[in-house]
Amino acid sequence: MHFAFVSGNPALDLAGTVGSRRDGPVDLLAGPADLERWVAECDGLPGRVTAGPADFESALSLREAVYRLALDRVLGRPFDPGSLDTVNAAAAGPVPAVELGDAGVRVTGDITAALCHVARSGIAVLADPGACLKECGRTDCTRIYLDRSRGARRTWCGMEACGNRVKAAAYRARRRAPATAGGHGPGETT
Ligand SMILES: [Zn+2]
Repeated sequence: MHFAFVSGNPALDLAGTVGSRRDGPVDLLAGPADLERWVAECDGLPGRVTAGPADFESALSLREAVYRLALDRVLGRPFDPGSLDTVNAAAAGPVPAVELGDAGVRVTGDITAALCHVARSGIAVLADPGACLKECGRTDCTRIYLDRSRGARRTWCGMEACGNRVKAAAYRARRRAPATAGGHGPGETT
């Protein structure tokens, strides 16, 4: 399975490693090796970290806490206190080191530092009153993303993963029922 980095924020992308959260969750992180791979693929995090079982548990706690707080934001309700504690604790540690060179930025640090960076980026987006957090328009997806589009008109977490699937399903439905005239698509932008 591929990880998707379409949420516009590392913490939201971590939360997005569980899909279909409401009906039959699909978890892309089965163990520490998956977490190491996720960190390596995520922009702004160290390219190589080693994660043990305890690190993995911390990452899952952070992930679920971020998801809960993001959902609280989407639903316009107060933050869950326990989830705040989890995210704040993860954000308290040292962050990865960054070094600028001709080849770009080199990021180094251990798994704790990587999760600290993730927690801090989660805090930054959750604290930003101007950040437009949305749940993906494809019902089964349940990914929460940051909509940075002009006028915040984005409907899907990603066009490839969700937008095209919804549009294809709508197209097939229209083909199956040609008698119901006048059915224009929702005309969504990405
Ligand atoms: Zn989606």
